[in-house]
Amino acid sequence: MNIDAIQENLRRFAEARDWNRFHSPKNMAMALIVEAAELLEHFQWRTEEESWRLSTHPEDYHAVREEIADVQIYLLRLADLLGIDLERAVLEKMDKNAEKYPVDLAKGNALKYDRLRK
Ligand SMILES: [Mg+2]
Repeated sequence: MNIDAIQENLRRFAEARDWNRFHSPKNMAMALIVEAAELLEHFQWRTEEESWRLSTHPEDYHAVREEIADVQIYLLRLADLLGIDLERAVLEKMDKNAEKYPVDLAKGNALKYDRLRK
């Protein structure tokens, strides 16, 4: 994914429609969560097993694909508006997570980092 190119495209999309007046960080954060909820709605009431087989239901699979794109679009736009280098932020957070969840302590369990025994 070319993050810069997509963010530039989103900037032009908003500018062409005079939507920047609506694109505050607050509104983008709210829209992101709304889209995440729309994504979640497709999994609500499905079993774990059914969630793995989503691709066998083309209509639902396509809808989930679109919601994932919506979430990503708002995330990219929010990061852009706040001047956050998303690639750098993700890489730094992954490093931080690796420190919080050392393989020898975290392997095979889903405990939060503050509950891992050292
Ligand atoms: Mg949506």
